[in-house]
Amino acid sequence: MHNNSHNPFENFNYKLVSRCPMCSASASRAQVEMLDSNPDGSLMLYSRCGGCGVGLIACLSAVQGGMYGAAVLTDLQKNEVRHFAEETPLTADEVMDYVKDLKTHKKYKK
Ligand SMILES: [Zn+2]
Repeated sequence: MHNNSHNPFENFNYKLVSRCPMCSASASRAQVEMLDSNPDGSLMLYSRCGGCGVGLIACLSAVQGGMYGAAVLTDLQKNEVRHFAEETPLTADEVMDYVKDLKTHKKYKK
C-alpha cells in the first residue's frame, strides 16, 4: 500500500452511491474512508452503510478526461479488506489442496 500526498483525489468529496443497494438508506449515513492510494492516481475506498452495515469496496482510477471504477458489496470489515489486499494471491496448488481437504472432510464426503 502506498500513500501519496499528490493524489488527484486527495480532497475529493467522496460519495459512492446515493442509496444503499441493500436497505435503501441514504448514503449520507455512510462514512467513506480511503484504504489505499497509489502514485498512478488509483485508490481504494471503503464505506459501511449506517442502516444495515453492509460494506462497499470501490476502486477508482483517474484516466485522461475522467475516471473509472468498480465497486462490490462485502461483509468484510475495513481491517479485513486491508489484510486481504496485502496478501499474495492464492496459487493453483493451494486451491487444489483446499479442494482435496474439503473432499476428505466428513461433512462433504459422499
Ligand atoms: Zn444498507
